[in-house]
Amino acid sequence: MIDEVVRRELFDFCWDVHVDGYTLLKTKTVKNRPPLVRPTRPRGDAEQDVHELDKERSRPALFITSGLPLEAQGFKLRRFAPLAETGLFREFAGTAPTPEGVLAFANKYGLLGGRVAAEIELDRQAGRAAALGEPLSAWRDQIFFIREALRLWEDTRAGNVERLAKVIRKREVSGDEGVEYQAEEHPSNEVGFPCWYEKIATRNVYSDILEAFPPGDLIKPALYLVQRWVNRHLEGNVSPLMLWDKHRLRLQLYVVPHNLLGALWLQLARAIEGDKMYRQCGACMKWFELSPDTARTNRKFCSNACRSRDYRERTAASMPAASRGPSADPPARREKPTSRRQQGKAGASRSRTRKGATK
Ligand SMILES: [Zn+2]
Repeated sequence: MIDEVVRRELFDFCWDVHVDGYTLLKTKTVKNRPPLVRPTRPRGDAEQDVHELDKERSRPALFITSGLPLEAQGFKLRRFAPLAETGLFREFAGTAPTPEGVLAFANKYGLLGGRVAAEIELDRQAGRAAALGEPLSAWRDQIFFIREALRLWEDTRAGNVERLAKVIRKREVSGDEGVEYQAEEHPSNEVGFPCWYEKIATRNVYSDILEAFPPGDLIKPALYLVQRWVNRHLEGNVSPLMLWDKHRLRLQLYVVPHNLLGALWLQLARAIEGDKMYRQCGACMKWFELSPDTARTNRKFCSNACRSRDYRERTAASMPAASRGPSADPPARREKPTSRRQQGKAGASRSRTRKGATK
């Protein structure tokens, strides 16, 4: 648990969540301030793309927003450290791309920030002008890309060629041969995921990369695509910064997220870099990173609190008071009033430095 305390101190990039929660609002972006959302449709005719985007901007759409005008004051915020939630990117990847799913995530962890954020029109009658909002469609795209990048990476790790073959294939289009990605079709596409298509490498584009792929191999092309997506989303959402180490003795170079979106993609990048393993907590269902220490890989719970809760619930449900059988949770562990992780959490929220970091 010591490493969690240290990690907490290093990783205290903090993010604010509106305590009163978020809502979905059908509205438009404020004129002349288009949302800086990357177009996520397949690359095609550039002119048509721009035209389509303009049309999209002028059409009302669903936005996730606190509903508070930009100049509002006196509202309550809850601050947390996203990088200390080691499996947060997995929770996001598993979020249902529905209004309910997206709102539930936002109410727990806040808006994504960065390029997804836009200024949106509020009800002008009430004398309010603009608020911060994020298009539901942009959330769906982000869930799609992080979910798909995670799946591709896990498939390459597991050598799951069968699954990879469903989305990565060799193809020749008008004389240009190459390897491409095509997202799996969703039934009637009711979930709203993009039908994303992307050339990974062809003879005309990135021929050197194409030549580096062993014939018939799907693992390398998948990893090149994951690399491209991760970098595309890290760009503008994280920055290298020189910060003091925790003893304030040495200056070190850290990678710091600017927003929640950056933190999520940074977590995925670190997971790939460190070949990290994750598990879903048996009590609260939260994803958490398994320590590389092999003794702990059979850990089933994200925290001592969750392990104790599970133990209490199991004993209360199944054991008559007299006959306590062998238990997975030795009573000694339960005697600690609070876990180190909880103490770390309290410590982090006390010292609210804006600069959070991962090294
Ligand atoms: Zn838990």
